[in-house]
Amino acid sequence: MRPKYKRIILKLSGEALAGDKGFGINQDVIDAIAVQVKEIVKLDVEVSIVVGGGNFWRGRSHEGMDRTTADYMGMLATVINSLALQDSLENIGIMTRVQTAIEMRQIAEPYIRRRAVRHLEKGRVVIFAAGTGNPYFSTDTTASLRAAEIEAEVILLAKKVDGVYDSDPVENPNAKKYEDLTYIEVLKKGLKVMDSTATSLCMDNKIPIIVFSLKNPENIKRVVLGEKIGTYVKE
Ligand code: UDP
Repeated sequence: MRPKYKRIILKLSGEALAGDKGFGINQDVIDAIAVQVKEIVKLDVEVSIVVGGGNFWRGRSHEGMDRTTADYMGMLATVINSLALQDSLENIGIMTRVQTAIEMRQIAEPYIRRRAVRHLEKGRVVIFAAGTGNPYFSTDTTASLRAAEIEAEVILLAKKVDGVYDSDPVENPNAKKYEDLTYIEVLKKGLKVMDSTATSLCMDNKIPIIVFSLKNPENIKRVVLGEKIGTYVKE
């Protein structure tokens, strides 16, 4: 079984780590993801991960608060998730490094692109924490930015739903799932794949995005092996 990609970014939303409760971290869920990450590391895929923070905090959901402060809190939430993921991966023998976009040297390395690439080449999983380090951005944009910087071939966007639909499949049972989309279609139709900043960055740098469900964590490996599941977003 030969993987289709050599270097990837896996974007996990905060919600993906929370399981059914929707808040905090579900250890069983995070451990199941770690096992699947190990599977693709064993295939010699260079794996980097961007984790969201929505299971703890989202800046834009706190209107009464200064937005920059609320966003910094969101970035800190991604650090909590990154450390939990690091712990889970190291428990099963995967070497990892967490790199933060905001310096907190006692906890993790600062983000240094060349160093991140070196870790990947040595087979370590690199977890990018604290988003881009800037308010008003998202961890989807972080995934796009880091993918461009480290020259990842693809972003695996693991979600609760199994792809991109023309309307919300939870509310509309007739919602239609797209197999393939272009970046422009995503932007024009206002589809909620990623925010527009993240989508534009992928478009400008020709980084394909594969949106799929993490309900079955084995999907990570299936996508890496080239099986066509979910929705592909590209030129
Ligand atoms: N955030 C930010 N800048 C970044 C990345 C994240 O300010 O570059 C903040 C923002 O408040 C965001 C929160 O961190 O709401 C959590 O990230 P996100 O909403 O992307 O998490 P997800 O929805 O993927 O769980």
